[in-house]
Amino acid sequence: MEKYKCKSVGIIGSGIQGVCIGLQLIKRNIPVTIFDRHEPLSTNFRPASYGNAGHFSPYAVLQFNRPDILNDVPKMLFSSYGPLALKWNHVPKMIPWFINYLKNCNKKSMLHTAKYMHQILSLSNDAYEEIFKEINTSNLIEKKGIIYVWTNQNLKSRELEIKVRNDLGIEQKLLSQKEILELEPNLKPVFDAGVFYEGAMHARNPQGILREIFKLFQNKGGKFVQENITSLKQISENETIIYSQREKYSFEKTVIASGAFSKKLTDQLGETIPLDTERGYHVHFKNMDHLISRPVIFLDRGFGMTPMVQGLRAVGTVELGGLINPPSKRRIEYIIKCAKELLPQLQKHDDEWLGFRPTLPDFLPILGPSLNNKNIIYAFGHHHLGWTLGAITGKIISGIVAEEKTNLDLSPYSSKRFN
Ligand SMILES: Cc1cc2nc3c(=O)[nH]c(=O)nc-3n(C[C@H](O)[C@H](O)[C@H](O)COP(=O)(O)OP(=O)(O)OC[C@H]3O[C@@H](n4cnc5c(N)ncnc54)[C@H](O)[C@@H]3O)c2cc1C
Repeated sequence: MEKYKCKSVGIIGSGIQGVCIGLQLIKRNIPVTIFDRHEPLSTNFRPASYGNAGHFSPYAVLQFNRPDILNDVPKMLFSSYGPLALKWNHVPKMIPWFINYLKNCNKKSMLHTAKYMHQILSLSNDAYEEIFKEINTSNLIEKKGIIYVWTNQNLKSRELEIKVRNDLGIEQKLLSQKEILELEPNLKPVFDAGVFYEGAMHARNPQGILREIFKLFQNKGGKFVQENITSLKQISENETIIYSQREKYSFEKTVIASGAFSKKLTDQLGETIPLDTERGYHVHFKNMDHLISRPVIFLDRGFGMTPMVQGLRAVGTVELGGLINPPSKRRIEYIIKCAKELLPQLQKHDDEWLGFRPTLPDFLPILGPSLNNKNIIYAFGHHHLGWTLGAITGKIISGIVAEEKTNLDLSPYSSKRFN
């Protein structure tokens, strides 16, 4: 029997998922066109894949659907200076998400998420290393590990995280305050202990890496069209149509890789997927990246700092507030306050940025065909780990498009779980 060969693919979104999927498809000699409202090489390209903290975090298997943090949520929400915030006008729209989140906030679901995040996270760095061999990575990647620090306030949660990672065989080195200060002597010791992922790497410029991957995709023959996509349809067994306001484009298959904006498209396909966003922020302290050698995350504060080409990037917090609300000044102030708590020598900041993490209530991404349209494939919902998971998502989704066999169990990532 002749091997199936897909004739053409359209991808909606040129964030890290879209670009990595495009690269893997073009390597299989499948013609690909990526659509985005902004061009990845332009200066106004500012999605989550641009402004994230740049951690490659294959160890981060536990997410927020955990019973141990549920009790703290109301306290966090009502505190104006906490790691979690809410835009109250978004609450009614978020009800389906909250209901689903509560269903998934138990020990069994937590361990299910950890197991299936681990399945793809454990392959994530190797998938990137393959790409790094083909692009210029100078001054873009640093391999000095990543440190998380904490106070003694939530030790039960820390113990749970350590145990789950141990059970999954994830390497981690627990550090005392003194050992952390030996690695990062400029930090003010406002924490008690921490964990070091010695083998972890970080991006010194996430957008720089994305640009290099995008250029590789184009050099191999991939096409890009700058368009705001308004709708899509599967019109027959072998044809999908992507519509913008002024044009329509036909492909055998279409991939939705539009991050937190994907729901606008999936809502048109007869599926109710409870995708929402966890908004996050960053600021830069220019020329201050020398103060730390590697990313430092303060777990109690839900914030971290990464030394980057742009300066020291202070980044994080979770704000539940949807895609339309304007940025919150108080969230920016919170990040600055947290950064100065750890590094009091910091002064003026620049580049206030708001980004949208695409998050499903069980904290697993959706990777796989649409339920009603098998030629429309979903690749979104990577929440806090979409940067880490870009390259492996590219491999998984291109395999699905090309109808190749896989040893991975992909059923937990299907949108079926919400229908
Ligand atoms: C503050 C913050 C810190 C983070 N830190 C980390 C980290 O350290 N490590 C990690 O692994 N992850 C991190 N993340 C998460 C990670 O950045 C995201 O999960 C990831 O970037 C999502 O990639 P994506 O390609 O799915 O979406 P995006 O990067 O959002 O890209 C989606 C693209 O689709 C385009 N698009 C959407 N709709 C349309 C349309 N209708 N027509 C045309 N184009 C469209 C958008 O313009 C955009 O370019 C962080 C996120 C935030 C916000």
